[in-house]
Amino acid sequence: MISTGFSTDGSAVFRGPMYPGKGKTMLARRLPGILPTLSFDESLETTMIYSVAGSLAGRSLITERPFRAPHHTVSVAGLVGGGPMVRPGEISLAHNGVLFLDELLEFGRHALEALRQPLEEREISVVRARRTVTFPADFMLVSALNPCPCGHYGNPLRTCTCSQLAINSYRAKLSGPLLDRIDMHVEVPAISYRELAGSEAGETSETVRARVETARATQLKRAGRCNARLGSREARAFAALDSDGHRIMERAVERLALSARSIERVRKLARTIADLDGSPDVRGPHLAEALQYRFLDREVTS
Ligand SMILES: [Zn+2]
Repeated sequence: MISTGFSTDGSAVFRGPMYPGKGKTMLARRLPGILPTLSFDESLETTMIYSVAGSLAGRSLITERPFRAPHHTVSVAGLVGGGPMVRPGEISLAHNGVLFLDELLEFGRHALEALRQPLEEREISVVRARRTVTFPADFMLVSALNPCPCGHYGNPLRTCTCSQLAINSYRAKLSGPLLDRIDMHVEVPAISYRELAGSEAGETSETVRARVETARATQLKRAGRCNARLGSREARAFAALDSDGHRIMERAVERLALSARSIERVRKLARTIADLDGSPDVRGPHLAEALQYRFLDREVTS
């Protein structure tokens, strides 16, 4: 799943039942390992932020993509930056890396709303006593949520004890505007420990990373930037749909009630899936796969 969908930036939400081993967290923690190696410039930027935050902990240079996983009780200042000393927040400590929000719906409304601007602008301005400080905040947002309040909905090994009403109001907490800013919704099925332990060894992170780096190079050559950063016009030009694609998209827009912003994300994601597939054109199967990653849109709007 990760091996086909992800490029080098963008965002994702994992949803699945709770079970021992915490599959969603485990998946998120593996992500920095398949992202392109940190360039020297990125390394310097990230090191500078950690230095300002006093979080270098004896390191002279940060050479790995950061992985930050703040708890849902984090304050708005702790998350986006600020406080009496105007320190960078978690989103800046995750610059050039991954920001993981486990139990997304447990985070405060103000904290989640504070994420919207930096997700668009990839930096954050903190105003404090007539002084404005801007910190870089270019991170990949990954979050996880349970399918219901008790966490067992859809788990064949456990019984969900929630009423339909409780499930509906829990899901209603996911706001459309935040979801619109997330590229991929990934359902993580419940699997027993035996299945996990018995599964054949898959590809190594290095193999996947090589494929990601190739796809990223293709994107940079084509547009000078990653697919996730394409403007609307570029997205239409570089991810042109054939008649088959238009038909698939038309049906999906009706069925999922996709917003204009979601449609654009689907196009860019389909472009990335095609790049990982080594295909110069976005074909029907690429678009169909990209659309599978929008199932939460339907649940929020219905
Ligand atoms: Zn439940």
